[in-house]
Amino acid sequence: MLERGEVANSWRTERWDSLRLLTPNWQSRLPGLRYEGPDPDGYMAVAEVTEFIERFATASRAPVRTGTNVTSVRHADDGYRVTTTRGELACRAVVIASGACNRPSVPHLSESVPAPVEQLTPFDYRDPGKLPDGGVLVVGASATGVQLAAEVQRSGRPVTLSVGEHVRLPRTYRGRDVLWWMDAAGVWDQRYDEVEDLTRARRLPSPQLVGTPERATLDLNALASMGVELVGRWSAVRDGQALFSGGLRNVFSLADLKMRRLLGTFDEWALTNGHDGEVGPAERLAPTRVPESARLQLDLRSGEIRSIVWATGFRPDYGWLDVPVLDAKGQLRHEGGAVDSPGLYALGLPVLRRRRSTFICGIEDDARAVIDHLARYLAGRG
Ligand SMILES: Cc1cc2nc3c(=O)[nH]c(=O)nc-3n(C[C@H](O)[C@H](O)[C@H](O)COP(=O)(O)OP(=O)(O)OC[C@H]3O[C@@H](n4cnc5c(N)ncnc54)[C@H](O)[C@@H]3O)c2cc1C
Repeated sequence: MLERGEVANSWRTERWDSLRLLTPNWQSRLPGLRYEGPDPDGYMAVAEVTEFIERFATASRAPVRTGTNVTSVRHADDGYRVTTTRGELACRAVVIASGACNRPSVPHLSESVPAPVEQLTPFDYRDPGKLPDGGVLVVGASATGVQLAAEVQRSGRPVTLSVGEHVRLPRTYRGRDVLWWMDAAGVWDQRYDEVEDLTRARRLPSPQLVGTPERATLDLNALASMGVELVGRWSAVRDGQALFSGGLRNVFSLADLKMRRLLGTFDEWALTNGHDGEVGPAERLAPTRVPESARLQLDLRSGEIRSIVWATGFRPDYGWLDVPVLDAKGQLRHEGGAVDSPGLYALGLPVLRRRRSTFICGIEDDARAVIDHLARYLAGRG
């Protein structure tokens, strides 16, 4: 196992200070290792996640070579030649487990933002105190965007949040964590070959969730109540003006509709499986409130906005992979983790084999299936 940094490198170096997992502690499980602390319904802070993964590395005696950056993987006669900062390796098979979120995705319009406005990605952001005083434009309203918007607003810097397509979820539903429902109702176990539109499922933004001791819901209504100003999707920069799409009403009603459908699935599951009496009564959540007049443009030269936080998602980095297995969008071509090149495998990607694949609790089943395939491949080659 080759790791360019330390074990749990992404958790040590690429996360902001206040981040907690949005998955509850009981859901943090790795093969043979479960959360056994006093707060199964709580959410781990970054240091706890790092410690949890370190514990797994020790317990599993994983043969990790840290400080070893892979700079190239290419075909060789009998498999692959792997070049690292600590020498070369000849491998019959390679598993790419380098993560789905190696780089922040920032749209090109960032290049047209006037210079005095500071721009950050979630990889640069640590805490709101490091932002300049004054207005902050947070772009993107998925898990990262809503969490950072709330934290920055609380620091006294007025936040404008640019909202595109998003996945709205309450933190708890009928008295249980919404991710308990996902688990119990089998939503997270839906397999990649059962998903109707796999390409879309793999690109779905992360849900608007935060892990806090209060188990609070952090949807757009909650943010608006805190004073965050909501604007539409950022579409262009013209003469120093940020231009936002109209149609927030449609964006909100689509997210509300999808949420209601999902909660309806949970209700149905509880009823059909005899759990209706064990959970709270069915809930109806208020629709997302549409601002009376959302601004369609914002002057980036006026000084109102002093910094921009791009919470527009993450992407993998395969700059080191010299095997032609990427599609036009730079994603690995694979079938349930078997990459489109014999002996090459992947783990830890969105909906790799199941909807839960990119979550910590998703690795066990995926790894077993992928390693089975890999073992058969090696056996087949004698
Ligand atoms: C902001 C954020 C919040 C998240 N919150 C949750 C959550 O609440 N619950 C949850 O279950 N999941 C969460 N996730 C998803 C989480 O990242 C995964 O569950 C898990 O960490 C993925 O593990 P991984 O080993 O596949 O990828 P990573 O943790 O990204 O690990 C990949 C490793 O590969 C190394 N690497 C990359 N390239 C190279 C190279 N060329 N050479 C050598 N080493 C290399 C990296 O240093 C890194 O250590 C979150 C992700 C992000 C970005």
